[in-house]
Amino acid sequence: MTLDIAQNLSKVKNAIRAAAEAAGRPADAVRLVAVSKTHPPETITPAIDAGQRLFGENRVQEAEAKWPKLKEANPDCRLHLIGPLQSNKAAIAVQLFDAIETVDRPKLAKALARHMEQTGLRPDCLIQVNTGEEPQKAGVSPADADKFIAACRDEYGLPLIGLMCIPPANEEPSMHFALLCEIAQRNGLAELSMGMSADYEIAAAFGATLVRVGTAIFGAREDYGHSSE
Ligand SMILES: *Cc1c(COP(=O)(O)O)cnc(C)c1O
Repeated sequence: MTLDIAQNLSKVKNAIRAAAEAAGRPADAVRLVAVSKTHPPETITPAIDAGQRLFGENRVQEAEAKWPKLKEANPDCRLHLIGPLQSNKAAIAVQLFDAIETVDRPKLAKALARHMEQTGLRPDCLIQVNTGEEPQKAGVSPADADKFIAACRDEYGLPLIGLMCIPPANEEPSMHFALLCEIAQRNGLAELSMGMSADYEIAAAFGATLVRVGTAIFGAREDYGHSSE
């Protein structure tokens, strides 16, 4: 079976629009982040050719290997970091990404702020919230979110635009989406990055402005050596 990336993309985009509209939201309220992690440029290019411009990668090194060339050929592509970021890679992340969705601790926020100041580059920042309070998962806990949001804005001066979450794998995601939405609203944050291949329609109904979809567009991954988040 050959993979029809253009067809998958259009299916996902239609489903997003339908889910948003069914929930009483504008059909264009939700943007699609096509998650291209583990896939080679030959797989990503058909998505670009089909009109997709917004992509997500979860590893700095992998993005560094693939995207400078892709962006050179397609300067209007935008790249989001959706995986954990080590402070010692903050400098390269600031150069490489148009948005960093996984800001989750003061040390990282400080490092990002410092490199933004040094370079003049200011990628959008989202704070990852560990809505399920899973010990193995990255993200600030819901109880600490307000304080961390305030620190990112006031203390570190980050260009903060929203929040991101990855709900626990075996739980109903909607309560996590609703919780993220509530934290964003009370903090005046507009962007909500939530929903993956299995639950992006639910996320679209619950207020997502960004959904991160990989498998439903690019097919199954060889995830060997990759963490799942
Ligand atoms: C891999 C990944 C996705 C996409 O997952 P799919 O199930 O393939 O759609 C979304 N968000 C994050 C943070 C990811 O690491």
